[in-house]
Amino acid sequence: MTIKERYAKTINYFQEHMPHAETELDYVNPFGLIVSVILSAQCTDKRVNLITPPLLAKFPTPEAMANATPGEIFQFIRSCSYPNNKAKHLSAMAKKIMEEFNGQVPESVDELMTLPGVGRKTANVITLVAFGNPAMPVDTHVFRVSARLGLTTGARSPEAAEKQLVKHFPRALLPLAHHWLILHGRYVCIARKPKCSHCGLKEFCRFYQGHEPVNP
Ligand code: SF4
Repeated sequence: MTIKERYAKTINYFQEHMPHAETELDYVNPFGLIVSVILSAQCTDKRVNLITPPLLAKFPTPEAMANATPGEIFQFIRSCSYPNNKAKHLSAMAKKIMEEFNGQVPESVDELMTLPGVGRKTANVITLVAFGNPAMPVDTHVFRVSARLGLTTGARSPEAAEKQLVKHFPRALLPLAHHWLILHGRYVCIARKPKCSHCGLKEFCRFYQGHEPVNP
């Protein structure tokens, strides 16, 4: 099977079975999304969705959050993991947006990565989901599922996988494809015990066919 056919089959399957996949994080604007994504590290989306409404009601803009101390932010996020570090990151992130980006969340991955608390994956999520730019945030689910399916080959890092996925998925489908792979990895193609008997992709899945996933 060619790589083109492999992508086409994957796309057909998900378009039929997961046509409305989207982020499980609630957000209303790019600033809200960046706050949610920073909070979501090592924390469930469900908890983040509980924390963000009161936090963003109190500090709805980069300006309001930049004027808050990390201690004030901490009071709103204490129930998520690593609240001390995240409060510091949120405060510093908002200050940097005010000081260097005129109060606007920047769009490009390179600019986003200059913000405290924002790594490559987070920057890709923001540029893709909030701004619709071509990107593929590769988290552990995306990395694993795309390797098992053979959508990536020999990718030794999330960045290498990102390049292959962005190259092969049609640009317009990237936001959906990102969520397809995350949700499939979260609920079906689980790391330790993938539910292959219930998986509609097994007919062409390299892992199921007995090939080792091609990524390490
Ligand atoms: S067949 Fe199994 S390994 Fe392959 S994508 Fe489905 S759940 Fe994952």
